[in-house]
Amino acid sequence: DVHLPAADRYEQLPYQRVGRSGLKLPRISLGLWNNFGADRALATQRDIVLHAFDRGITHFDLANNYGPPPGAAEEQFGRILESDLRPYRDEIVVSTKAGYDMWPGPYGDRGSRKYMLASLDQSLRRLGLDYVDVFYSHRPDPETPIEETVSALVTAVRSGKALYAGISNYDPEQTAAAAEALAAENMHLLIHQPRYNMFDRVPEDGLFDELTRLGTGAIVFSPLAGGLLTDRYLDGSVPVGSRAAEGRWFGADRIDDEYLSTARALNDIAAARGQTLAQLAITWVLRQPAVTSALVGASSVRQLDGTLDSLAGAPLTDEELAAIDALVPR
Ligand code: NDP
Repeated sequence: DVHLPAADRYEQLPYQRVGRSGLKLPRISLGLWNNFGADRALATQRDIVLHAFDRGITHFDLANNYGPPPGAAEEQFGRILESDLRPYRDEIVVSTKAGYDMWPGPYGDRGSRKYMLASLDQSLRRLGLDYVDVFYSHRPDPETPIEETVSALVTAVRSGKALYAGISNYDPEQTAAAAEALAAENMHLLIHQPRYNMFDRVPEDGLFDELTRLGTGAIVFSPLAGGLLTDRYLDGSVPVGSRAAEGRWFGADRIDDEYLSTARALNDIAAARGQTLAQLAITWVLRQPAVTSALVGASSVRQLDGTLDSLAGAPLTDEELAAIDALVPR
């Protein structure tokens, strides 16, 4: 049966302006890097996406290579759009990216205009869409002039295949160069997508300041460190089907004594606030004024609900922030 979205979906969570732009994003957005490949049940994926929309998540983040196999996440999401969300296209912000290895030969990777624009056309076909809302350069390509990579973003927007331009994994200098090249084309850099969580504080060393200066928003990926900043591994075991068990980004060897003592101490801070560790991790990234949205993953509706309930938590006190700093220094 076609799913009817919850009538109160816009009373569920706050939306924040993306830098100096006209666009707002939900404070928590859903990413489809993991758990949305052809190796998992479409029914579960559909439940997660539709539940996210019911709870006010208007932004879904994809990339050409998300799967497995690469491209599968766009296809699965395209199926859910087609079956249930087509009438709500204008209520949804879809992003995709190009920058990682997609097809054989010299034109299937990195930052050339040739690759980026061919990839965007492929993404649109897989998604079954005429346009995406945000098109990203997924990573910097030191071998391609930034003006060329940016020219692909500009063409994507001018041709109507994307509404806004973004970059991901660029350092502060690369970010400034990309924004400058876009400005030369009278275009604003809407958004940057860096990794940011309690275990990876690199964006605090200049990136957030640069984005604030540029009026560019930050949507931070892996705020739960792929599950390491949740209760997923707190008892010391590695559940079947988990990220660590499947060796996606990190493996079972990551769950060592040092990890467990830090994660359990962070969990104690969360518990004293009446939060789960996942909720503390989200509250912590959203405390940064430069951060527009926390870009989370979920392998179940229950996980997503737990994460979303972080928005009900109290702001962090100076004492709590200092206790976290002592465990995970900058
Ligand atoms: P998270 O840090 O949010 O990790 C998500 C994982 O954490 C889930 O798959 C699940 O693990 C576990 N989890 C989530 N919620 C809970 C909960 N409440 N309780 C217990 N466990 C929980 O983010 P991801 O690493 O998945 O990245 C999110 C998105 O960011 C991606 O989908 C993608 O859109 C984007 N991204 C972008 C990158 C880039 O280069 N631009 C790189 C990486 C991500 P399990 O699967 O084990 O159940």
